Amino acid sequence: MIITKRIDIVVPCYNEEDVLEMFYTKTESILNTIKGYSFRYVFVDDGSKDNTLKIMTSLSRTHKNINYLSFSRNFGKEAAMYAGLKYTTGDYVIVMDADLQHPPAMIPDMIAVIEQGHDCCAAMRTDRKGESVVKSWFSRLFYKLSNKLTSVKLVQGAVDFRIMSKQMVDSIMELTENQRFSKGIFSWVGFDTQWIPYKNVERPVGHSKWSFWGLFKYAIDGITAFSIAPLRMVTGLGFFISTFAFVYIIITLIQTLICGIAVPGYVTTLSAVLFLGGIIEFSIGILGEYIGHIYIEAKNRPIFILKETNIPLTKFNSKSEKQED
Ligand code: UDP
Ligand code: MG
Repeated sequence: MIITKRIDIVVPCYNEEDVLEMFYTKTESILNTIKGYSFRYVFVDDGSKDNTLKIMTSLSRTHKNINYLSFSRNFGKEAAMYAGLKYTTGDYVIVMDADLQHPPAMIPDMIAVIEQGHDCCAAMRTDRKGESVVKSWFSRLFYKLSNKLTSVKLVQGAVDFRIMSKQMVDSIMELTENQRFSKGIFSWVGFDTQWIPYKNVERPVGHSKWSFWGLFKYAIDGITAFSIAPLRMVTGLGFFISTFAFVYIIITLIQTLICGIAVPGYVTTLSAVLFLGGIIEFSIGILGEYIGHIYIEAKNRPIFILKETNIPLTKFNSKSEKQED
């Protein structure tokens, strides 16, 4: 059989001991049916506290096409995806979750699409089965808000399961920000992306690593990472309130000059103080979000710290994981 192209599969894993072997077996059974390509796995152990790394190393001993990276602690899925992508060399790169929620059976179709000359083919969930009503309501709200506020368009239901050309991966690697929001980054770099719809699959074992507040924070980070619209809104609000206050002052002044000082006004004063106080707090909060981002980025800390790998790192003339000062 003639191998024409190489495909790397990046799989971020955090505490996935229950599913990792199943993931490998299932994915292999699909990949074995695809002719003309060689596949390599880049498993990223994101500081798992269970036996995930042990399973990875033992799989890599028995299967030559398995590479793994292991972090010194949990850096988050975004960091794990970044690290995995960094050590890919294939003509195409697939990113997928370890929990089998991204059906490996879609891989042949994705390859067929990218072979038509597109830069990327990504999966899009058509339903949110198995998700709480509140979570899906917030999720829809987030997509609406984000698409209104930012110029980067996010596709409703888009997941991080995709195949990309090496050129697109290289562009993604040029975005070295610390606080990564991949959904936005994938869209921001541009390129031509085709979408394949699929029905949501529930995890066979294990549980989601996302808490409600984790997702909420992620949503705020997503918007602030790609837009300064909230800052502009604060400026607009300030302008609007100042204009209103100016008119109100003039009116009150004239009234006072004509009719003298009216004693009542307790409710008006209190309302104004509380209302403005709220708005000021809110504005400072928005400012704070951006300052927080600047603060983290200014430190320029590494996105991840590698503890262990079976990839010969000398092959990659990268900026070292640990940046020297
Ligand atoms: N993951 C990770 N680091 C984390 C959290 C998650 O690498 O800190 C991985 C996880 O092992 C899985 C993928 O990211 O392969 C998606 O995580 P999860 O299933 O918890 O998210 P959900 O499917 O609920 O969005
Ligand atoms: Mg999952």
